[in-house]
Amino acid sequence: MSTEKMAIRRKSLLYKTAVEYGDYTINHVEGCSHGCLYPCYAMMMARRFGKVKSYEEWLRPKIVSNAIDLLKKEIPRHRDKIKFVHLCFSTDPFMYGHETITNLSFELVSLLNESGIKCTSLTKGILPIKLAQLSDQNEFGITLISLNEDFRKEYEPFASPYKDRIESLYRLHKKGIKTWVSIEPYPTPNIIDQDFGSILKAISFVDKIIFGRLNYNPMVSQYPSYKDFYDSLSREVIEHCIRNNQEWHIKNGTMYGWSKKIGHPDDSISAGKGFDSRI
Ligand code: SF4
Repeated sequence: MSTEKMAIRRKSLLYKTAVEYGDYTINHVEGCSHGCLYPCYAMMMARRFGKVKSYEEWLRPKIVSNAIDLLKKEIPRHRDKIKFVHLCFSTDPFMYGHETITNLSFELVSLLNESGIKCTSLTKGILPIKLAQLSDQNEFGITLISLNEDFRKEYEPFASPYKDRIESLYRLHKKGIKTWVSIEPYPTPNIIDQDFGSILKAISFVDKIIFGRLNYNPMVSQYPSYKDFYDSLSREVIEHCIRNNQEWHIKNGTMYGWSKKIGHPDDSISAGKGFDSRI
């Protein structure tokens, strides 16, 4: 069934999130056809709270049909408090093969920008080049945890191929748009043994990298030295970003030894360009 026919209505859309690197957010779609099997935290929550009953239902996204009207009403109420709006934490705004969702996301970002609100966005789909027509304050990102298509087909079965995903990000970068990559949820070598450096190399053009461990998967703690593994990759990300003048953010619970060494209060760490590393 097409996404146009699968629609829901909501009473509100724009809200302040407690997610680590978020501020305000909107989730204008319920479900996600990418069907990630790491597992997907958004799907776990949707099932726990009875929004979807099964994986199959999660795979059939439902658009929030009154999203534009809601946002028009809610922007004036929140505008003064908003630093930026992120699309999305519990679905994918540029879902692969879903033009209706991509177009709606574009309209919502336009609407926010018209009110002077910056947007950030993260996808495992394809970022449309027309995003470059919008505010140059926006930041568009992709998730990238591997370059191996066999792994992608197993763990992100209906998301976009990695090569196409990176190319769409690169096209926006070439248009002068700020780009970023979320290397999260990064798997341990007993899930896939891969060259981390080649992933960093493939995204050397981006402005910012976020790195985070894989959660909710028992295979991670079965890997004997997974804490050292994540510590070591966190260090590699930071060193890479300092060398390449990129911003970085290491997510909560990813650096086991380090955050204690530097006494960071919330176990995450980030820095802007030109950061003078104490580590
Ligand atoms: S893209 Fe995100 S929301 Fe969609 S299934 Fe994958 S992890 Fe879940």
